[in-house]
Amino acid sequence: MNTITVDVAIIGTGTAGLAAYRAARAQGKTAVVIESGPYGTTCARVGCMPSKLLIAAAEAAHMLALAPGFGVHPGPVRIDGKAVMARVRSERDRFVGFVLEGVDNIPAEDKLRGHARFTSPHSLQVDEHTAIEAGRVVIATGSTPMIPPKLRDVGKGVIISDDVFEWTDLPASVAVIGTGVIGLELGQALSRLGVRVSFFARGGSVAQLSDPEVLHVAAHTLGAEIDLRFQQTIVAARQDGDEVELTTHNAAGVQKVERFQYVLSAIGRKPNVDKIGIEHTGLALDRHGIPVYDSSTMQCGTSHIFIAGDANNERPVLPEAADHGKIAGDNAGRYPDVRPGLRRTALAIAFTEPQIATLGETYRELCAEGRPKFAVGKVSFTNQGRSRVMLQNHGMLRVYGEYGTGRFLGAEMIAPRAENLGHLLSWAAQARLTVAQMLDMPFYHPVIEEGVRTALRDLAAELEKGAPAGDDGAECLPGV
Ligand SMILES: Cc1cc2nc3c(=O)[nH]c(=O)nc-3n(C[C@H](O)[C@H](O)[C@H](O)COP(=O)(O)OP(=O)(O)OC[C@H]3O[C@@H](n4cnc5c(N)ncnc54)[C@H](O)[C@@H]3O)c2cc1C
Repeated sequence: MNTITVDVAIIGTGTAGLAAYRAARAQGKTAVVIESGPYGTTCARVGCMPSKLLIAAAEAAHMLALAPGFGVHPGPVRIDGKAVMARVRSERDRFVGFVLEGVDNIPAEDKLRGHARFTSPHSLQVDEHTAIEAGRVVIATGSTPMIPPKLRDVGKGVIISDDVFEWTDLPASVAVIGTGVIGLELGQALSRLGVRVSFFARGGSVAQLSDPEVLHVAAHTLGAEIDLRFQQTIVAARQDGDEVELTTHNAAGVQKVERFQYVLSAIGRKPNVDKIGIEHTGLALDRHGIPVYDSSTMQCGTSHIFIAGDANNERPVLPEAADHGKIAGDNAGRYPDVRPGLRRTALAIAFTEPQIATLGETYRELCAEGRPKFAVGKVSFTNQGRSRVMLQNHGMLRVYGEYGTGRFLGAEMIAPRAENLGHLLSWAAQARLTVAQMLDMPFYHPVIEEGVRTALRDLAAELEKGAPAGDDGAECLPGV
């Protein structure tokens, strides 16, 4: 067994781990990164990038399907599944290549291959070959897709999102278990590419939405296009030749047996903190087994251990992993003189169509904070000018403001070009603008942003009325 001593050891070379390594080295400290899986990051290999490549192909197909609505009639559409997947994989490989170049530039002595686990608060063991004594440690181990018990050990037909990006052709049919962001993005794209897709959700959630009104519109809007089934229970799954026989029942207890080429488990992802010897660190853990940490410094308690990216499950998206990693690496380098790093306004986007975006304080957070009397403004995109022009007039935006200060707090939406509206509004939230200040900003014509102005005007009028007395008119609905 080799033994090495280092200032900072970083477990994981995903987006968070690589950012942590750079930040720790920038502090003039010695650092090593340890990786048990393939290099290239989840985002580039099996996450953000290949999923958006698949969605881009689906959008092309969908534009052709929409064309007759404008009086434009394309010829017969043929989807070449092999070509679709070849582009997804080759462009994905290109993106991964850029990450690999970055990893190649890390000196060989700073890289270790193997599974790292704590053996004491300052000691790590990598497989059976290396023992590390580290002054500080950054946990940047990412997350793993979960598979419900009924789908485990069924056979080759039960897959996770990683597997989709290894396909060389499109399948005939897929059952998507879960209506979170990943399931909806992949499932809708496959459906638009001609795959028979059905979605099975245990409850009634749609992506990351928590506002009941937006959620209702989202379920209705997406449900008009794709086979969305809520309140479903998986009874059994059985591999039968090249298909999986899936038995489900709905809330009314009606049982259904269907066959799919693949069953995609998309019920969520679990932070990778369970197999790293966390019990040897002495850290306090939350009920999910994640070390309790300070989200401004990424420090676990007052210890020399930091946690970043999907591993802490705070906001499992790429920009957050990069920010977490930078803060964790910087503070690991300067420990014990840790400092708060830049945390930005929350922004999450689901690349469904219409897109779904949430930003700032969500409806659920505002209700949980015991601040039920925030004001709400809204707009439906059904009759919004530019959205109708583009035949994309679906969706709803709800914006939240604080009584008294008039400050803009956050928003939830399913809307055309929500990726752009979400950025606009999150910048306003981070700048702590009031709703009145936002309405003083320019709005061109005819643009989707005019829908945002309608919602803000509605919010301004609600704020003007003032907070309702007592609990009357409280926004928060039971169960949110
Ligand atoms: C299908 C899909 C689509 C997505 N789309 C988007 C999107 O559009 N936009 C967005 O912002 N985010 C998206 N995400 C989320 C985004 O990819 C993640 O939030 C981000 O990649 C997390 O980075 P990370 O560094 O925390 O983890 P990872 O990149 O997963 O890195 C963790 C690394 O740690 C390694 N590791 C784990 N345990 C150990 C150990 N004990 N020893 C050594 N190494 C270990 C793993 O092998 C892995 O390489 C998507 C995710 C998926 C799955």
